Amino acid sequence: MSDLGAILDRIGAEMAAAPDRGRVADYIPELARISDCHFAMAVCTADGQTFTTGEADTPFSIQSVSKVFTLAIALGRLGDQLWTRVGREPSGLAFNSMVQLEYERGIPRNPFINAGAIVVTDAILAGHKPRELLGEILRFLREAAGEDDIHINKAVAASEQATGHRNLALAHFMAAHGNLLHAPELTCGTYFHQCAIEMSARQLALAGRFLIGAPDLPRMLAPGRTRRINALMMTCGHYDGSGEFAYRVGLPGKSGVGGGILVVAPGRASIAVWSPGLNTQGNSQLGTLAVERLARATGWSVFG
Ligand code: GLN
Repeated sequence: MSDLGAILDRIGAEMAAAPDRGRVADYIPELARISDCHFAMAVCTADGQTFTTGEADTPFSIQSVSKVFTLAIALGRLGDQLWTRVGREPSGLAFNSMVQLEYERGIPRNPFINAGAIVVTDAILAGHKPRELLGEILRFLREAAGEDDIHINKAVAASEQATGHRNLALAHFMAAHGNLLHAPELTCGTYFHQCAIEMSARQLALAGRFLIGAPDLPRMLAPGRTRRINALMMTCGHYDGSGEFAYRVGLPGKSGVGGGILVVAPGRASIAVWSPGLNTQGNSQLGTLAVERLARATGWSVFG
């Protein structure tokens, strides 16, 4: 699509003028320092082209977008066994909610809420030291993106570690139900570091290409499994905002509180957007609006 560059530039200009940019996450002190003025968008198409607008080479904290990649590693390594420890239903609750865990006996609703992602990290930590697993996650991302310059921001990880009582509480609660293999501090420490990975929008769009399902792109996982990841992104990728995202955008997406969203247009493109201001569900306010406009301009939708 030759006018994709023009579409992105137009969206970039519209977002620069947007009146409501949402609110930057402030419960992780290092993230609270980020300005809400940033904006970037990148699109990698199935035929190998990349289009960008805005600060597409500025690294940002991918936070919960990392959950897509740890899920991919977990499905590659454990297969369907993973589903004995975490469900596949949307939660309809905030990303850090505790309530369901109590009456569902420590089994989180899905791998994209915090409790579910902590279980996924715990599962792939088996037989590894945290450092080794984090190395594997970075290797996966670097291979998927075809870029080596992807790292963990230690200050962000430390900041989350210092304030991560809620995630530790989730981990302890799951441990009490026998759904954690490692000490809560060890699993959460690994999870905090995975969330503190920094990537640019361009790198994130490149890393998401394996979910497009097109030939000639990096193949990190069997096609049946990538389809499943897309299904979970569609139903659970935006927490209690997943229905709204599906309605407005019509494509699978996974957000993070750093303001990034990875979106997949199956068979067509991988899209990454970054704008740090969040809506009330903790999803990027302008990021959502930007991909909504992109989907409208291109006609991309999984709903026909
Ligand atoms: N690291 C963040 C947390 O655990 C990730 C949450 C998110 O991006 N929604 O709170």
